[in-house]
Amino acid sequence: MERDKVIFDLIDQELGRQRDGIELIASENFTSLQVMEAMGTSLTNKYAEGYPGKRYYGGCEIVDQVEQLAIDRLRQVFNCTYANVQPHSGAQANGAVFLAVMKPGEKFLGLDLSMGGHLTHGSAANFSGKTYQALHYGVTKDGIVDYEQLETIARAENPKMIICGASAYSRDWDYARIRAVADEIGAIVFADIAHPAGLIAAGLLKDPFDHCHIVTSTTHKTLRGPRGGIIMLRHDFENPWGLKDPKGNTRMMSSLLDLAVFPGTQGGPLEHVIAAKAIAFGEILSADFKAYGQQIIANAQAMAKAFVAKDYQIISGGTDNHLMLIDLRNKNITGKKAQETLDKAHITLNKNAVPYDDKSPFVTSGIRIGVPSITTRGMKEEHMQTVVDLIDKILMNIDDEAIIAGVKEEVKTFMKQFPLYPELN
Ligand SMILES: *Cc1c(COP(=O)(O)O)cnc(C)c1O
Repeated sequence: MERDKVIFDLIDQELGRQRDGIELIASENFTSLQVMEAMGTSLTNKYAEGYPGKRYYGGCEIVDQVEQLAIDRLRQVFNCTYANVQPHSGAQANGAVFLAVMKPGEKFLGLDLSMGGHLTHGSAANFSGKTYQALHYGVTKDGIVDYEQLETIARAENPKMIICGASAYSRDWDYARIRAVADEIGAIVFADIAHPAGLIAAGLLKDPFDHCHIVTSTTHKTLRGPRGGIIMLRHDFENPWGLKDPKGNTRMMSSLLDLAVFPGTQGGPLEHVIAAKAIAFGEILSADFKAYGQQIIANAQAMAKAFVAKDYQIISGGTDNHLMLIDLRNKNITGKKAQETLDKAHITLNKNAVPYDDKSPFVTSGIRIGVPSITTRGMKEEHMQTVVDLIDKILMNIDDEAIIAGVKEEVKTFMKQFPLYPELN
């Protein structure tokens, strides 16, 4: 068959875009070359419904080894006894948790989307908000999770499950406090660590596993693996909530979760992606990953400091992790305008609602900035000032096309110091 030049040309263009730009989207990262290589292999051809050793198809003896290695390595990464590596994405992992734990119409409590939460934590547009009764806690005016509000709602409403975790929150979590109120009311605590998982794996943030019954994550954010999801338990347990499998049997939590992924919400697993996950987990277990995590935090803090020095308002005043949210209202710029203009200069980030935002989610008053990608490219604290200077130059000259074009060239030249996939031409 003829090579599909049209698509491969677009793929080349995308590599060029990634190389030339400053990538600040907090949920993105650059995987290693071997992680990408694994995804473009013959494993994509294999059907393997089921789990290692218990498949519905023949010919699974090799993919069984791949998937078992992914499971074993992931257990080691987070020091847990149960891991499911099949969810196709973070949202799929969360869907499986809901299916395992909740019946339609039951109540759960999660962080409000407009305060930094995720769609799958009860947004009206998402299955989680449509199928179940979603209750929400928020953050205080200072931008810190409002634990008092969380406790008040939990005690008044008795939700079956409490979700902690966020997509746009720069502070660590008090998992123990959430577990304490959950124990009072007999609720399940579910931590979605999609964003900070890599920093947790590196031991640089609080460990949710001892306090949360169930933990999910994506694998492509700070874990720096392929796009995908995972579900974990530190200790398997007989569920005290009397949860049943579809046949009405009480089961161990691990078994309920496995059933909720397959056949509950997915068919065949993506073994090529699972192989890439296994490689990424191996990289996380290597000696360098902790230094990577430390550099992420050092970079985020240096960047926050540089923004504050230029009178930018950081929600909660700073960051404990890999990201920050900036309220641009004192600069009279909307999040939308900032995102669109920075994009022209190949500085990529996203507009984001700030807590108590008075603008619509399509416009917003803020931007979210993350440093995992630029840290992967090799930037250190001293480069954060340059990045902030370039962003500030755009935002202070938001309608000046000549300056924007000039910054675009500066960005391209600056990024040449940080080669991306030099092995690919
Ligand atoms: C990114 C994210 C997800 C979803 O991940 P996808 O792979 O995009 O489905 C779920 N939860 C949180 C908190 C996230 O930030």
